Amino acid sequence: MKTKILVIEDNLQNRYLFKLLLQKEGYEVLEAAEGASGIAMALACKPDLILLDIQLPDLDGYQVARSLRKDTKTARTPIVAVTSYAMVGDREKTIAAGCTGYIEKPINPKTFIAEIAPYLAAAPKQGQRP
Ligand code: MN
Repeated sequence: MKTKILVIEDNLQNRYLFKLLLQKEGYEVLEAAEGASGIAMALACKPDLILLDIQLPDLDGYQVARSLRKDTKTARTPIVAVTSYAMVGDREKTIAAGCTGYIEKPINPKTFIAEIAPYLAAAPKQGQRP
């Protein structure tokens, strides 16, 4: 079974880049362009990892993370916040909202896969989740 990664990101170019890099690595990629549709897709498809943009058109990434943490289906799914906010305190804010980790935009295509790998390695295995 392929490892499934859900990308919640409203920017089409960013989504395209994530998809390209992840598919090249052999991951199955699911995409959502808004927070609400991202939450719905996460609950329905139970991805192994979620890449979460913070600036979204409807809900912000913090709201999305909090909502995912409340549902048993996604309570333990690794969520990696991807944001261009580079201000002090934002990392803490994403972690406080329930995110597992944080990477900064613009992402580095050369190191991106290695950056998310530790979060995938720590993820609950498929079939061990509710
Ligand atoms: Mn955005």
